[in-house]
Amino acid sequence: MAKVLVFIDNPGPALKKASLELLTIARSLGEPAVAFNGELHDDVAATLGAYGAQALYRPSTADLDDYLVGPKASYLAAAVQTAEATVVLTENSAEAREIAARLGIKLGAGVITDVVAVDPDGTAHKSVLAGSWTTTAKASTPVAVLTVKSNSITPDPAVTGTAPGTVTVEVPATATAASARITARNEKAASGRPDLAEARIVVAGGRGVDGNFGPVEDLADALGAAIGASRAATDAGWIGHDAQIGQTGKTVSPQLYISAGISGAIQQKAGMQTARVIVAVNKDAESPVFEIADFGIVGDLFQVLPQATAEIKKRKA
Ligand SMILES: Cc1cc2nc3c(=O)[nH]c(=O)nc-3n(C[C@H](O)[C@H](O)[C@H](O)COP(=O)(O)OP(=O)(O)OC[C@H]3O[C@@H](n4cnc5c(N)ncnc54)[C@H](O)[C@@H]3O)c2cc1C
Repeated sequence: MAKVLVFIDNPGPALKKASLELLTIARSLGEPAVAFNGELHDDVAATLGAYGAQALYRPSTADLDDYLVGPKASYLAAAVQTAEATVVLTENSAEAREIAARLGIKLGAGVITDVVAVDPDGTAHKSVLAGSWTTTAKASTPVAVLTVKSNSITPDPAVTGTAPGTVTVEVPATATAASARITARNEKAASGRPDLAEARIVVAGGRGVDGNFGPVEDLADALGAAIGASRAATDAGWIGHDAQIGQTGKTVSPQLYISAGISGAIQQKAGMQTARVIVAVNKDAESPVFEIADFGIVGDLFQVLPQATAEIKKRKA
């Protein structure tokens, strides 16, 4: 049976849904194990067991976070060898993809990014060309490295849980020698809203908000949603670039995506068209966003959004 290693960087006090998705996919491919970095809380270890992890690998050194990604790739390469894994699964974040690329070079492994589904034989389905095509790919190398987009599948615990033991993986002494060390970190003020890439609901605003994200924020808060934006809105400085969704921004795949004052250019669609339900609010009935919307409202967002917010609040009260 194929050994599948899931990399979880800093699992924190509770596992993210994206990590549970990776474990669910790992079980469909073979025998799952987890290589983590950072602290492992007891609850997290129990959840990893509930999702079928047969073994947990930890690095011999606790300072991997003091460097950019190089040493993490070295650790993961050593973990793959210790676990005798033939498949590695990671998230699809920019950092995880960089680790995957470096790991691919170290192991001579095929790397497939932007994966949205994996067949039991390891064939990966990925979304390409700004999301307008999907392709299938399979690595022909002894080890395959796949970076999987979050919200690709519904996480599912194993029928029979495990109580996995922890194995320490020796990180090569050379791993940190020629790596860039992080010299300072400044934490961004927390918004209190869910993480955009993981959110179940996203409310996004575009040029149509004309500098006023207030109605978008109010609706997002009524729904417990994250806030996204088109590039026109981020370029105008109305909201931070980390809110940008699209080809050159984040890719989101929420259950519900509400698009307000966004025309629906191909580069914007690339980041959101896999949302389960798309609701578009635009005052131009000819706007291309209506081509992919499940529900369309032709109207002024400054009238439509506050009405929706008021109704949602009323029903929640
Ligand atoms: C290489 C490249 C990469 C790019 N990457 C991205 C990307 O990652 N993400 C991205 O979003 N774009 C990206 N773009 C830009 C993209 O092509 C569009 O220019 C951009 O998405 C337009 O943003 P918008 O829809 O907010 O603005 P517009 O196209 O100007 O549309 C504004 C919309 O708001 C509507 N509107 C105006 N006022 C109201 C109102 N009061 N109520 C309701 N509706 C109203 C209008 O009818 C219009 O449809 C990229 C472009 C290039 C070339």
